[in-house]
Amino acid sequence: MSATATRVLVLNSGSSSVKYQLLDMGAEPDSGSAAGTRLAVGLVERIGEESSRLVHTPLAAGGEKRETEGAIADHDAALKAVAAELAADGLGLDSPELAAIGHRVVHGGLKFTAPTVIDDAVLAEIERLVPVAPLHNPANITGIRTARALRPDLPQVAVFDTAFHTTMPEHAARYAIDVATADAHRIRRYGFHGTSHAYVSRKTAELLGKDPSEVNVIVLHLGNGASASAVAGGRCVDTSMGLTPLEGLVMGTRSGDIDPAVTFHLKRVAGMSTDEIDALLNKKSGLVGLCGDNDMREIRRRIDEGDERARLAFDIYIHRLKKYIGAYSAVLGKVDAVAFTAGVGENAAPVREAAVAGLEEMGLAVDATLNAARSGEPRLISPDYARVAVAVVPTDEELEIAQQTYALVNA
Ligand code: AMP
Repeated sequence: MSATATRVLVLNSGSSSVKYQLLDMGAEPDSGSAAGTRLAVGLVERIGEESSRLVHTPLAAGGEKRETEGAIADHDAALKAVAAELAADGLGLDSPELAAIGHRVVHGGLKFTAPTVIDDAVLAEIERLVPVAPLHNPANITGIRTARALRPDLPQVAVFDTAFHTTMPEHAARYAIDVATADAHRIRRYGFHGTSHAYVSRKTAELLGKDPSEVNVIVLHLGNGASASAVAGGRCVDTSMGLTPLEGLVMGTRSGDIDPAVTFHLKRVAGMSTDEIDALLNKKSGLVGLCGDNDMREIRRRIDEGDERARLAFDIYIHRLKKYIGAYSAVLGKVDAVAFTAGVGENAAPVREAAVAGLEEMGLAVDATLNAARSGEPRLISPDYARVAVAVVPTDEELEIAQQTYALVNA
């Protein structure tokens, strides 16, 4: 790597989309710390359709957002289009300033406990994990292959959503099913959103003025996908997602926890196929299944208009959230902070208020004024007297991926 190479391109490849950010990780002149300045951000969506769309914003030059519509056939074409946009801003992928490409990879199984430089063997292992992440890993693999073809000489790093959770003890990670069957099929609780849980738990400790090793934090990542984690002294000891992202909290379109016998019932009694049940639980359940909307803004608007279905969906969402706060308080023994993050956690004050309402005996409370204030910065929303800090900590998975990637290629 060249001494001047300080840029990292972060790629998050989904089945029909690619999100990207180009960051400069060079040391800030004053602080000497990694800067993580965003030079460009964008996304390509509806890949493979006639109406694909590329939205690119060159932040470095204070440039205007550029949007292009038109068929983008596959990930290869998508990445080439992204490369052309970056090149138009003088930020091309052929620049000697590019140090590495960091890829978000959803499932790293048990093997990948840390960010990893990708070679053929690593790629083969990520492929071996496709059966446990059929919705995510294939898209991540396509993104990696395409990026490697474009810049074969450049270090490419995989940052795994599961890695932060590999510290979970066996008693939290194992399902109570026959051990031989579980092991033969690698069935266990892996957890996801790990990059976010790692970043937010660390930032929460920073907000409290402590080292991560000194604090116990419950992180509530509430986006369209949602998960909770219990983090003791900087290490994850439990998380709500399992073999797949379906387990745990009520999400935008996923059911979260459910009696597995519901699936047998749907098969035997309702005559549904495995794929239909999969789609029902992953795409037509959660908030959207309960009330037809998965956007919390819309649900709150409907509640304000007296809509009963929206109210019930909200109440079910909050009930599950409370159960996890209670469970993880017990798992941790002592809780220093509860941190809300992601789209709902960062923006929906009524969710934060309702989630901790009635938990005063557990040391939890929110201050109405602090909770209602809007800010993009990490902040405390609990009153001074509360034993447990309640925080809103905006997540930044791309920055975390860029930092981990940059640290690895500079190690
Ligand atoms: P994420 O997956 O983290 O991007 O979160 C997306 C979700 O955040 C959306 O589906 C909304 O439910 C929620 N969300 C985003 N902005 C707001 C807001 N201002 N108020 C309430 N919920 C929001």
